Amino acid sequence: MPQTMTAVRKVKPEKGLVVEDIPIPVIGPDDVLVQVEAAGICGTDLHIWNWDRWSSRRVKPPLTLGHEFAGTVVEVGGRVSTVSVGDYVSAESHITCGMCYQCRTGQAHMCPNTVIIGVDREGGFAEYVVVPEKVIWRNDRDKIPPEIACLQEPFGNAVFSTMNQDITGQSVGILGCGPIGLFSIGIAKASGASSVLASDINQFRLDLATKMGAQQVFNPTKFSGDGDGGIVDAMVSANGGFGIDIILEMSGAPAAINTAFKAVRNGGVVVLFGIPSKPVEIDVAENMIFKNLTVHSLNGRRIFDTWYKTRWLLSEGLVDLRPLITKKIKLEEINESMPLLEDGQVCKLVVIPEHKSAPQASERAVSKTPDPNIKGTVVHR
Ligand SMILES: [Zn+2]
Ligand SMILES: [Zn+2]
Repeated sequence: MPQTMTAVRKVKPEKGLVVEDIPIPVIGPDDVLVQVEAAGICGTDLHIWNWDRWSSRRVKPPLTLGHEFAGTVVEVGGRVSTVSVGDYVSAESHITCGMCYQCRTGQAHMCPNTVIIGVDREGGFAEYVVVPEKVIWRNDRDKIPPEIACLQEPFGNAVFSTMNQDITGQSVGILGCGPIGLFSIGIAKASGASSVLASDINQFRLDLATKMGAQQVFNPTKFSGDGDGGIVDAMVSANGGFGIDIILEMSGAPAAINTAFKAVRNGGVVVLFGIPSKPVEIDVAENMIFKNLTVHSLNGRRIFDTWYKTRWLLSEGLVDLRPLITKKIKLEEINESMPLLEDGQVCKLVVIPEHKSAPQASERAVSKTPDPNIKGTVVHR
């Protein structure tokens, strides 16, 4: 086994990333070393690449990015009992404390002590990544190839927000067709939604929405206002003249949030999952109280509940994610690929690291990895 590896890192508090050779990380007794075969680039990585307000407060360089990955276990620590060398795995990127109120009541996705792989500790945009045994998820290579297996992590967010309510036989509106919104279209179809209507301001994404199974797609920029001839009327009339049963707001755009509350039927459900960048004005009386709405504001994914549902949806072929992988790239191509993501002209980019050697167990010494202690939660944008 080689001693060094290629990794994509934020090395300084400024825009951009650096591809460099660093020592292969050393595992602790409760860790496994994964040779990365595929890693998805997420909106969160774009924020860190850009070094925006959020990431400059949260991320402490130097740091290897990447929290969506799949690969093969090549080393296990002395106390690891459920994972073996050769296992084909992914990981839940959120490492939770297990001891706080949320963790102890089955709500670990809200753990205030969460440490995130690729945000708070070394990530998977590298040939190898160290992962604690407790967040390892075993995959079936025959059913889910690496480029799909690495997408289970963000897909779980869509599973959480879409399957949070009973959608069988319901009309579903999905506002915002980034990766999570597009995943949700497939999940809603697979879960028996009677119809799925989707909206986005980007035609490339609307074409993908149709591929994922949306019956009708809407571009809000083609409509003026919310009244006659507006997008709300268009969506309601496409739904047989009725308000939509369930609306998933996945964009975070203030206009779309208002569309969600107007296009939903009286007594319907609105799920707020997209993250607005600033406070949003809503007519609470007219568009919430008088409509007797149920509103869910959701973030993250249920650990590990959503992983089981994700495995079922993907391994049984109920949702096909292949149309959403726009391009596979090398580690060395990340910097030039980020602007493509920023322009919204690609959906998922999957990094395929080139390896100096095939997966094999190593006999390197195992020592203790210090625990990072940065806290909080992160969102997939
Ligand atoms: Zn906790
Ligand atoms: Zn992500």
